[in-house]
Amino acid sequence: MVELKNVSVTYDNGVSALKDVSLKINDGEFVFFVGKNGAGKSTLIKLLIRDVKADERADLVPVVRVNGFDLMKMKQREVPKLRQTIGFVFQDYKLIGNMNVYDNIAFVLRSIDAPTRYIRKRVPQVIGLMGLQKKAKCFPNELSGGEQQRVAIARALVNNPQLIIADEPTGNLDPRTSEEIVRILHEINERGTTVLMVTHQLELVKDFGGRVVKISGGVIDCDDHV
Ligand code: ADP
Repeated sequence: MVELKNVSVTYDNGVSALKDVSLKINDGEFVFFVGKNGAGKSTLIKLLIRDVKADERADLVPVVRVNGFDLMKMKQREVPKLRQTIGFVFQDYKLIGNMNVYDNIAFVLRSIDAPTRYIRKRVPQVIGLMGLQKKAKCFPNELSGGEQQRVAIARALVNNPQLIIADEPTGNLDPRTSEEIVRILHEINERGTTVLMVTHQLELVKDFGGRVVKISGGVIDCDDHV
């Protein structure tokens, strides 16, 4: 669950990127975040992973809760634990070029010292879920954009996150592949994972519908089901 109350974020240079934002996202929701460049979408995401902190206020205490963690009280050394409950999907995939598909995904579990037996079971599971069985030994440059994004989604899923944050995941893809990626994210959502997807592509939002949160100038100016 994501809960924000009275959250403002001001950068060191004085830019006020979020202004008194309150927002609640329940477990199991699928939410589109939309808004123009500079609206505050990235800042909102950075807030959820404790990359930026909410401003301290004298008058009232802001609330920032994500997946059971209280980010206002969290110590820096606890941040990795929070991030392990979140899977990320980026516009440019961010796959490791000199690792094959299997290793790109296994890397996540290896880096948290998961047992080898578990890695050998879990990685093929998510590869299968994304329909990438025949591509497990391929390197990223041998894959199409859509396939690379499916690898990135498998990587985001492998550690069973409670929440997936997808930041413009279809920004580099053609309309048909974009639809396929959003459909996959919806299927993941139907299996119980909360999904937040940032997008510029309003036609995708219209096609799929659901909850849409629009951010403008650091405030939420619309939060509706379309
Ligand atoms: P979006 O993701 O919607 O494009 P951002 O959250 O990146 O919006 O930016 C919101 C505002 O904060 C913009 O005015 C931007 O210039 C400013 N901003 C973003 N990151 C920083 C930073 N690290 N330092 C100072 N200002 C920033």
